Amino acid sequence: MKHKRKTKEDVKLFVEQVSVHKGWKLHPDPLFLDYLMEGLTVNYNRYGYFQCPCRDSWGEREKDGDIVCPCDYCVPDQSDYGHCFCGLFLTVAFSESGKIPQSIPERRPPERYP
Ligand code: SF4
Repeated sequence: MKHKRKTKEDVKLFVEQVSVHKGWKLHPDPLFLDYLMEGLTVNYNRYGYFQCPCRDSWGEREKDGDIVCPCDYCVPDQSDYGHCFCGLFLTVAFSESGKIPQSIPERRPPERYP
């Protein structure tokens, strides 16, 4: 599939726009945030879509549709834990608590994994 390559700056803009549009906050640690955005950049340039940087990919958009960022599991995870699986997007309440996102259970069903 042909797609225009994205730079880290493009991805930063995308992530910031999503967070503003949805009313979410971003991971508080700039280094970890950068690591996640690097992962999204690599995945976009590899697959042509924003495959979640914390999950294995099929490399096919149809099969990975549930984990294109922001994924189908983001809001339910935010409701239960205050942040998404990767810790990229936080609720305002979680962000204001000053806590750091922790490892949370994977909500994606095992049968949806490659
Ligand atoms: S877990 Fe977070 S970073 Fe990963 S796809 Fe979902 S919203 Fe994006």
